[in-house]
This record gives sequence, C-alpha cells and structure tokens, in this order.
Amino acid sequence: MKDWRRYTEIPRIAYFSMEIGLTTEIPTYSGGLGVLAGDTIKSAADLKLPLVAVTLISRKGYFKQTFDNDGWQQESSVDWKPEDLLELLPVKTLVNIENRDVKVQAWLYRVKSPTGGELPVLFLDTDIPGNEPEDRKITDHLYGGDKAYRLKQEIVLGIGGARLLQILGFQVRKYHLNEGHASLLTLELLNHHRLPVEDSWDEKASWNTQHVQEKCVFTTHTPVEAGHDRFSYETVTQVMGEVIPLPLLKKLGGEDELNMTLLALNLSHFVNGVAKKHGEVSQALFPGFKIHAITNGVHPFTWTSPYLMSLYDKYLPGWAVEPELLVRVDIIPDKELREAHAGAKAYLFQYIEETTGTILDPDVLTIGFARRATAYKRANMIFTDPDRLLKLGDGKLQLVFGGKAHPHDDFGKQMIKEIRQQAEFFGDRLKIVYLPNYNMDVASRLIPGVDVWLNNPLRPLEASGTSGMKAALNGVPNFSVLDGWWIEGHIEGVTGWSIGPPPTETSTDVNHSDEDVQDLYKKLEEMIIPLYYNNSKGWTKVQKNAIGKNAYYFNTHVMMRRYVTEAYLR
Ligand SMILES: *Cc1c(COP(=O)(O)O)cnc(C)c1O
Repeated sequence: MKDWRRYTEIPRIAYFSMEIGLTTEIPTYSGGLGVLAGDTIKSAADLKLPLVAVTLISRKGYFKQTFDNDGWQQESSVDWKPEDLLELLPVKTLVNIENRDVKVQAWLYRVKSPTGGELPVLFLDTDIPGNEPEDRKITDHLYGGDKAYRLKQEIVLGIGGARLLQILGFQVRKYHLNEGHASLLTLELLNHHRLPVEDSWDEKASWNTQHVQEKCVFTTHTPVEAGHDRFSYETVTQVMGEVIPLPLLKKLGGEDELNMTLLALNLSHFVNGVAKKHGEVSQALFPGFKIHAITNGVHPFTWTSPYLMSLYDKYLPGWAVEPELLVRVDIIPDKELREAHAGAKAYLFQYIEETTGTILDPDVLTIGFARRATAYKRANMIFTDPDRLLKLGDGKLQLVFGGKAHPHDDFGKQMIKEIRQQAEFFGDRLKIVYLPNYNMDVASRLIPGVDVWLNNPLRPLEASGTSGMKAALNGVPNFSVLDGWWIEGHIEGVTGWSIGPPPTETSTDVNHSDEDVQDLYKKLEEMIIPLYYNNSKGWTKVQKNAIGKNAYYFNTHVMMRRYVTEAYLR
C-alpha cells in the first residue's frame, strides 16, 4: 500500500479553494482569500482535524511585481518547480472541456504540525503530455486569462477535484467550498447521487439535490453583487457542454447567467459570511437563504514574528496550539514587550534598507499599510490632503506600503504610482516606502515591524480582512475603518482606533470618504501621535490589549472549532 493511502483511511472534510497560500515558495495565492485557506489548513493540522484540501497548481503563480522608472507596476511569471516541493500522485482523471477529454493529475503536499497532525493538500494540474497545448496551460495562471479560461479552471477545480478524490479513494464527510470558484463540484455530486426512479416520466425527480446539500458547506467572501463569479450560458454550453440538463442548471444557478454563488447557495446546507457584518450584508444580498457568520482568523504560529514568539513561549507556553492563552498577556513585563517589538521593527527596517535603500528611523512612529491594491481598499487615502499630513506628521511619522494590483487593474496600478510619487514630494520630512512584491514573506516582516496597522476600505466592502489580525498577534494596534472583523475587535482607545462613523450601511450607496479622511487626520494628530511619544506606558497597554483582546480570539484555531461545531458536524 502506498504511503499516501493512509490519508484515505478515515473520512475527511474536503476543502476546495481556487487559491491556497501555505508558504512563499508555493506561489498559488494572490491575497487574503488564499492566505486564509492556508491558515485554515494549518490550524486543521494543529487540531488534528480530518481534512483534505484541493486547489490548482498555478504553475506560473499569480505574478512577481516590479516597477519601471515611472513607478508603473510590471508583472512577470513566478518560476517555481512543483517537483521540488510536491509529490506527483500516480493517478489521473478526465474532465470534458470544449468537447475534449482533458487529463487532470494531482500533486501532494503534506502539511505537518508540531502537534503531530498531518494533512494532505492536492494541487491539480493539466500540464500533461497528451493534452492539447492550450489545455496544458489551464492551470498556469491564477486569475489570468478571459472568462472561458476561468471557467475551464473552475471545471478542473470542482469537477476534476471531486473525481480525483474519488479515484484516490478518499471518503468525504463534507465538501467545504471556500468561495464560489469550486461550485461546479456540486454538479459532479448531483450526477453521482441520482435516485433510482421507477416512474421515469419525471426526469427531475431523479436529481437528489437534498443529498448534495447535506454534503456541502459554503463560505462566501464577497460583499457586493458585482463581485460574484458568473458566466453566460453561451460560454457555459460552449466550454462545459451539458453536465446536468440545462433547465435544471438554470433553476439552481440563475435563469440569465450561471452565478456560482447562487449555485453554491442552492446546494449547501450551511452557508456563512466571514464576519458578523458580512453575514448581514450577504443575507441582504440573498434574502431567500439563511446565512450564518463565522469570523475569519489567522494562523498563530505562521504570523507571529520570532521576536514575539520567544516572549510568548517564555510567559504563555502552549499559546501556538491554544491561542486563547494570549488572554493572559498582561503577565508579560512591559519592558520585554517593548524590546521584542523593537526587534521586529529593526528586522523590518533592515529589510527595507536592503530592498529600497531607504533608511528609516527606529524612534519614529511607523504606520504600515499593505494588501491587494484595488480601488475599494483606498491605499492613497492618507494623501488626500498632503499639506495637512505633512503638518501633523513632520518628523513624527513614517509610512510603509506594499501590495500588488491585478494585471488588468489600471486603477490599482495608478494608486500605487501615486503613492510612490508622494514619497518624492515628502522627501526626508515624512519618509514613505513602497515595498515591492508583497507576499507572505514580505507580510511576515512588514506587519510585526510597524507601530500601527492602517486600514481604510470603503464600507462595507471589506468582508473580513485578516492582515489586521496578524498585526494584533504581534502587538501592533489597528487604526481602521469600522468594517469586517474590526467591528468585532475594536474598542476605542483600548485595542486600537476607529476611522470614520459607526458601521450602519449594507451597501456602498453612502460614501463617507470625507468623514473618514478628516477622522484619520484628527485621530493621528490628537490621539495616536501624542500617545506614542508622550505616554509609553499607555502605548504598551494598547499593544497588550491588541494581543489579549484581539489576537486571542481572531485566529484560525478558534475559527476552525466553530466550523466543526456549527457546520461540519451538522
Ligand atoms: C494577510 C495577507 C493579505 C490579506 O490582507 P487584508 O488586509 O486582509 O486584505 C493579503 N496578502 C498577503 C500576502 C497576506 O499575507
């Protein structure tokens, strides 16, 4: 019996995600969604939960980001060799794409926890001799290509993934669809669980939708109608053919277009948003369905800087497998916490100097902002009134940015370019750095090394956000718009600070940009800068509260225990 066969001995949760971010070396993720998937799997391994994860190999990665002389983002493929990091499994399956049989194979990665837990992750791949040249490229580019390319990827993920699990002998307790990209797996399940019908005059009676529902859990991540993945039936029929009869598909996935979210909603018994607020927003978007909320988290061991780690090990042993222990953070002496943070800050500043040549001052209050560069995240909001910013921050502030814009997102690229231009405008009076090629590695240096983590998305578009949780875990307080997880984590002046009005809206119809930016300047000037420079004890208290009142709860261990009791065991 082959070694990997032992993974098939017990029934598992099959966790499907278009992107999974486990380490920087495996570049099969683009941002928060993929990193969350990776953190989910790592916590499942720590907790010894029976889970198998399925994703695409993305042989060319998302992309590597560099800048030309004008500050315009340039993209290049990421070169990595799956064979150096993963094991090829000796089994293949077929999916039908544009009337061709396309072979799909899987690479295995084993996620191993210090607790002894171990989980398999399968990376699906169509780059196989015998496949047509264009089909060999289906699993090359994460979020690349056109609509048809995306649909082909979703066929490989949903249908190919479900078939491979079966051929490999996995017994599946539940399928967990992380976002709508994997919704097509429900069609494969429908085909597998048709009821025998005596009286076959009613074709529909033979489709056992209830059985599929009982097997599926769906997590939605998108708070706006326009953000959901959808395909015209013309594309669907052309690319996929008729996997189930078209009238039935339309009934389940939408009359006018195939909406992957709707398909998943119709075929899952448990559906959730990724923060309380996002649950409400999703509920308003899809009135006929019951939408729960399980707030996202981050994996404690992955996102704690080595400097903080030794401190937690010393005072709160066991914290990495039982992050609730962080609630006792107050037993750590202030001085030691300050020293640990200074270590993380120096480590970041050294990296900044190496990559950009800019030397930052370790005594100056440093604000960090890094995430995907897309319009709603409003990365350049702090520059709305440059004179005001300079007046309040002259000699007292430094800013560190990072983040990639999607290759087709010119607005995002423009936003980055503007920030890079601001750096020249402010010069030495207010130093600004834009770190290139934001990824998990850069994030793990950047987030723990700044003093405040800034987030100012347009409400209610930040479904959850997770980078702020990584900050809290490292004693870096959040300064953020009240959206996503921060609505649940924020206590004003205690765990960090809010920006703008309280969260009431469930759509973007009302825009609070003016209020947001005024509040941002006001709080920096009147609260954050004075506290940092004049009250070091008060500052350390906020740092500790970020750890003891935010990080102890907003982590993937807590999140996974909730998925088990609220979704998987139902
Ligand atoms: C955590 C993380 C994100 C998510 O950041 P948000 O601020 O939650 O959008 C994106 N990219 C990388 C590389 C990350 O590590």
